Amino acid sequence: MAHQIQLTLTPEEAANSEIYIPKFAKKAGINVDDIVKFQITSKSIDARKPPVKVNMNAKLYTDIKDHDYIIEPFAAKDVSKASEAIIVGAGPAGLFAALTFIEQGIKPVIIERGKRVGERKRDVAAISTKHYVDPDSNYAFGEGGAGTFSDGKLYTRSKKRGDIRRIYELLYLHGAQEEILYESQPHIGSDVLAQVVVNIRQTILDAGGTILFQQRVTDLITEGEQVTGVKLSDGRTMAAAAVVLATGHSARDVYEMLQKRGVMLEAKGFALGVRLEHPQELINQIQYHSNEPDPHLPPASYKLVKQVDDRGVYSFCMCPGGFIVPAATANDQLVVNGMSPSKRNGTYANSGMVVELRTEDIPNAEEDPLAGIRYQEQLEKMAFMNGGQGQVAPAQGMADFVNNRVSADMPENSYFPGLISSPMHFWLPEHVSSRLKIAFKAFGKKMRGFLTNDALVIGLESRTSSPVRIYRDKEALTSFPYDGLYPTGEGAGYAGGIVSSGLDGVRVARKIAETM
Ligand code: FAD
Repeated sequence: MAHQIQLTLTPEEAANSEIYIPKFAKKAGINVDDIVKFQITSKSIDARKPPVKVNMNAKLYTDIKDHDYIIEPFAAKDVSKASEAIIVGAGPAGLFAALTFIEQGIKPVIIERGKRVGERKRDVAAISTKHYVDPDSNYAFGEGGAGTFSDGKLYTRSKKRGDIRRIYELLYLHGAQEEILYESQPHIGSDVLAQVVVNIRQTILDAGGTILFQQRVTDLITEGEQVTGVKLSDGRTMAAAAVVLATGHSARDVYEMLQKRGVMLEAKGFALGVRLEHPQELINQIQYHSNEPDPHLPPASYKLVKQVDDRGVYSFCMCPGGFIVPAATANDQLVVNGMSPSKRNGTYANSGMVVELRTEDIPNAEEDPLAGIRYQEQLEKMAFMNGGQGQVAPAQGMADFVNNRVSADMPENSYFPGLISSPMHFWLPEHVSSRLKIAFKAFGKKMRGFLTNDALVIGLESRTSSPVRIYRDKEALTSFPYDGLYPTGEGAGYAGGIVSSGLDGVRVARKIAETM
């Protein structure tokens, strides 16, 4: 028999199974010794007002036959001799498309411009220590895609609960923590995620799939209005009936190639701003309503949004206990982003603070579908010019930014390449800086102590989502005018984030399987 029980616990109770399991058993009216399996089904923190509570749901099984929650193992088929589909890009969209192909009996051939995770780690470290950005191996490019060195947040706004659940299960089956199966705001952390990516690679190879690393796709091969393959950077060509284009939003050369090829593209809105970093302790104090929050609570997060002059200003990709990282894809740009380890045990809390840009806010967007990319790039170069040497980023105290003051010095921070004081209020586009200032004041009222010079505003947070959409047919999911080309994931403009990009990869691979 299974008992589904809900309890509200103190943080200390929720952190200790020797305390909470007897409490659940008591509420279910059974003996702890009669429980053959105890399964947490959801867990969330309620910090709206003190005291902070933890809501926990669990299933208590007294007979294992009733265990209704068995994770289906990954149903790999031997695809070594099966028909092939090409996947360009080994990010979440590409990797989940590959796993889906394997389940459907199709051989995935992944082509990835970057390196395997292990080698990529060295290149990513060199950005911080040597200030050198390898254009094919960095925070955006390489095995696992843009999110490999991230916080690994797994929430999505998608409503496809069953499919989302399967993404979590596949991540779990490849080494992610069990907690992602039940926490309300699951996250993996970059240390664990990198190993999950390696395990997914092994599954693909074991099933007979192919992965080519350090091979950039430079062009499409077409016959009339049919894409029949791709050209690689080493001059080789590869043919297949279907090409999944999962190259992410930072592959600007891919958008250029598609534009030259006459593939239908349209400019789309995106968001732009800065990364904000506070001491984590301060965020804990504010969010947990105490100068000495319960040590059993996890590092606190926040989610802030304010409408300013008809545009949304919001926090984005908040990383508790994380680091700010240099996420440019070329040496003359400055782009920042955030990551955290699975324990989120760093000293600082960072988040993107971005302003919604609609196409009418982007110069030339009516004439040029790639106008958003050109605008992004122009501002990333401006951030670089306003930074120090190499990847030293421009920064300003948060209160100084709001009050148009240059900061005299920089507090300690997590950004390894270094920061230089810069009048960001002056050189950021006015439509961005003026909205950020108003929103920061409002956030400071909502969260007392949030608006402070102990927090830093660091530039530039520009790679939030794709500024381009690659048109695709709603039913067939193919591009226009080319059949056989399937734009997928964040770069195509149909997803944002690890899980939603993975879901889009699954969707496209299933559609292709219907036609092969
Ligand atoms: P990508 O992950 O961008 O993958 C595209 C792949 O294609 C790359 O590996 C690239 O090398 C390859 N490629 C590009 N061009 C070519 C070519 N011409 N030939 C061959 N290969 C090519 N999202 C979250 O949900 N949670 C987070 O916590 C989170 N944190 C992030 C932190 C950082 C530092 C960054 C950079 C991103 C973060 N994101 C996060 C966003 C998330 O990573 C992306 O939404 C997601 O990775 C998009 O998946 P994708 O597969 O569509 O594209």
